[in-house]
Amino acid sequence: MEFLTPAILALLPSNASEISDNLRTNNLCDRCILRVLGVRKATLFASSNLGTSHRCPTCFGLLQPTTSTSAALKITSKLRDEHWSGLTSFFIAPHLPIQLALRSRAIDLLLSANNLSIDRGVSKRVPKKFDRNQSNKANSDRRASNKANHLPQLDPADNQLFSVSQKQIDVKDALAMMVAHEVSRMTGLVFDPKAAFHVELAFEHGETEKEFEWVREQRKRTRQDVPWRKPVESGGDIVLETWNQMVNAAMMLDYQDFVREEYIPFKPVNSECACTEIKLVHLSLFVAGRYNKYSREVSNARMEYNGERLVAESVEELIGEHLDSLFHADGHNFASSGREDVDVLMLGSGRPFYMELVNPKKQDISQNQVRVAQEQINKTREGKIRVTHLQLVEKDETKHLKNSASTKRKSYSTLVQLSKPVTLHQLNELSNMKDLALKQQTPIRVMRSRSDLERDKVVHEMNVYPENEGVLRETGEYVYDLIRIDLTTSAGTYVKEFCHSDGGRTVPSIKELLGVESATVVALDVLQVFLDWPKETE
Ligand SMILES: [Zn+2]
Repeated sequence: MEFLTPAILALLPSNASEISDNLRTNNLCDRCILRVLGVRKATLFASSNLGTSHRCPTCFGLLQPTTSTSAALKITSKLRDEHWSGLTSFFIAPHLPIQLALRSRAIDLLLSANNLSIDRGVSKRVPKKFDRNQSNKANSDRRASNKANHLPQLDPADNQLFSVSQKQIDVKDALAMMVAHEVSRMTGLVFDPKAAFHVELAFEHGETEKEFEWVREQRKRTRQDVPWRKPVESGGDIVLETWNQMVNAAMMLDYQDFVREEYIPFKPVNSECACTEIKLVHLSLFVAGRYNKYSREVSNARMEYNGERLVAESVEELIGEHLDSLFHADGHNFASSGREDVDVLMLGSGRPFYMELVNPKKQDISQNQVRVAQEQINKTREGKIRVTHLQLVEKDETKHLKNSASTKRKSYSTLVQLSKPVTLHQLNELSNMKDLALKQQTPIRVMRSRSDLERDKVVHEMNVYPENEGVLRETGEYVYDLIRIDLTTSAGTYVKEFCHSDGGRTVPSIKELLGVESATVVALDVLQVFLDWPKETE
């Protein structure tokens, strides 16, 4: 206790030195004793004034400064090797051997068996002989002051932050605090529990890996003793894989269990924990824009069937490859406001899309760099696609695109070959139709991926005109068999099927309305997707 400052000593439980003596005879390291007492202070834990013990039975040496320093060094070299840049804050998420949670429970039971439960001077019950109001007030004052102790405060002795909690500090939290302290010192990054950048640290301890089988067996037996529970034949449904599962299982164990299994009294372990994995992970960044597609050999997203590529190139990849490398992302997820078929062009002002960049390592990409990327995409992909209004957006903004899926209108231009020529009068009749209601049964060509349903769709407007010179009939009228239809439809209307009728599955259709044997779509282009998102950038 000689290394504790007066500010910390003032907040320790009255029986702190007895607790400390008991834990020391149980071979706990100095830092484990401090965390059991609820003390949290990064500079104190990092200090070499505390003793070293790589064999501590309740942290397996994890709380030794050598462990946190070596983890922090590995993290900083990984930051360098993976070319991370533009980070300001970080969060540490340790994945520790779950048997440590079992040992934390054993500490609590050991202390209470020795009448050393942590006493913070708060009586749990209101003693009857006191005036209820007064003692309630006294208790709430104490509670308030105890609550305040949880919050980090400045230690006047050295101007460093500290807090004293009523409960044991988890090994996980103590380790995260120590590693965070070192990483901050080495990199200047700020530790922030809300940071979008996470460092995942995994540790293993082979020596004790199998030690909790008895917990599983014991839980099985306890379940069999409960009459309304079916006996468990195999241990299959007692899952002990996560920290919280182990914490819950450990709560069912008592002091005698730990004595019988020779945890108590605690003995030093033979080996220390090994750091087996470090992962650096950042939440996704989002880039949005609009795209045009000028090729009938490029699909919207990558198309595969049974692992074979169906179309060599996709809008998703033509844009994604550039953005992945700009942001040093692990990959991307592409979403667009609807999609066109491979053989359909996307003209006009383009189709809104966004790209989610997964685990982007460059956090300092400016809007100007995104604009340069847009120019590069347009230069290298010329004749295939074109991107406009490319910009960084917040994740929250991408909902505009998701929400638009069922409400947006689209306009198309389609070139149709008729089996028999028709008159200009017939075409004008089509042009005069407004809000034509359709019944569309799921097209045969997409039945593999959509459920077979009849859907109500609307053709809001049509502008139909001849696309060739026509033939003069004996009646003195010109007739035409190649026509262009510009149309605006409700979301999700299948335009090709509206032309050729899909064997009568779309009613009515151009084929039916013109009374011809067949109406074949020669070319289809999307002219406009009516969604004002993302905002215009130029
Ligand atoms: Zn320890």
